[in-house]
Amino acid sequence: MNDFTYKLRQFGDVEENVSFTRLTTYKAGGTAHYVVYPRSLFDLQSVLGLCAENGVEYKVFGNGSNILCSDEFYDGVIIRLNRFLNQFHYENNELVARAGCYIIALAYDAMKNNFSGLEFASGIPGTLGGCLFMNAGAYKVSMSDVVTQVQVLMGNEIVWLNNEECEFGYRSSIFQKHPEWIILAARISLKPGNKEEIQKVMNARQRRRFETQPLDMPSAGSVFRNLEEHFAWEYVDMIGYRGKNIGGACVSPKHSNFIVNTGNATGSDILNLIEEIQRQVQQQFGVELMMEVEKFNWKN
Ligand SMILES: Cc1cc2nc3c(=O)[nH]c(=O)nc-3n(C[C@H](O)[C@H](O)[C@H](O)COP(=O)(O)OP(=O)(O)OC[C@H]3O[C@@H](n4cnc5c(N)ncnc54)[C@H](O)[C@@H]3O)c2cc1C
Repeated sequence: MNDFTYKLRQFGDVEENVSFTRLTTYKAGGTAHYVVYPRSLFDLQSVLGLCAENGVEYKVFGNGSNILCSDEFYDGVIIRLNRFLNQFHYENNELVARAGCYIIALAYDAMKNNFSGLEFASGIPGTLGGCLFMNAGAYKVSMSDVVTQVQVLMGNEIVWLNNEECEFGYRSSIFQKHPEWIILAARISLKPGNKEEIQKVMNARQRRRFETQPLDMPSAGSVFRNLEEHFAWEYVDMIGYRGKNIGGACVSPKHSNFIVNTGNATGSDILNLIEEIQRQVQQQFGVELMMEVEKFNWKN
């Protein structure tokens, strides 16, 4: 065991040479040298210090449900908060949760406690940190509609940002401009409601997702951002790419803004298909389809 690995192990659970097929919902990509699950905030800070001292890169992963990894080796540290930094509690009508919580688990817990507000998020397979980074949303509601404050680690400082300071927009936030910040926790404002009514709404949304999205296959949800005049899937349909495949990557026949991994897609298969769609849409309609999914560990 080298010195770096030995020290890293002091700050949390560590796995070495982990395939990105295990770290992302696309189940595709190369290998990460290290994955660390810090046991506490102090340990997280120590991991960051250790990376800085040794000139080792790091990247925070939530549930990897919005990330497309290259097939290359990543000689750095993937930091995950979901194993230990995942506690939550209620303060009156507010849910105070750490970034490693899964948003689906929070939505179900809020429902069980007769709190309304997170129904929209009950089918989004991300962590609170990833959902805030993306301002995730569905059914015209987003994280920005329910979050009052976000706790962020900025260098050695821990800062609470209020909602306006997070600069939330459509699938965007200030956190995308500051990849070096780490989201630690958030306060979510909920309304008293009726458990049965809330569950009914969540069940209906879940049924709708199963009917309209390829949830039985690995994907990262919507690949492209919607535009003002059209949904992204309409452009994919207009170029005739519904069902189109490259290697193991396929535009879902069920929802053409989803690209699914049919079993053995590489990161490159998925990216090639994405880029071919972008080229065709640009050529045929003069429209630039922007990726909603984030590329990670690509050389260019
Ligand atoms: C089947 C399916 C359905 C989906 N449906 C929806 C939907 O309805 N609406 C929607 O908006 N999205 C949807 N998504 C996409 C995805 O779930 C969201 O974008 C989600 O917010 C990503 O969260 P994550 O924890 O997986 O983040 P990751 O994909 O792991 O990371 C995304 C980004 O957030 C950053 N990040 C994560 N945690 C932190 C942290 N603590 N501090 C700082 N940065 C952090 C990462 O570095 C990365 O840049 C869907 C995906 C799938 C697979």
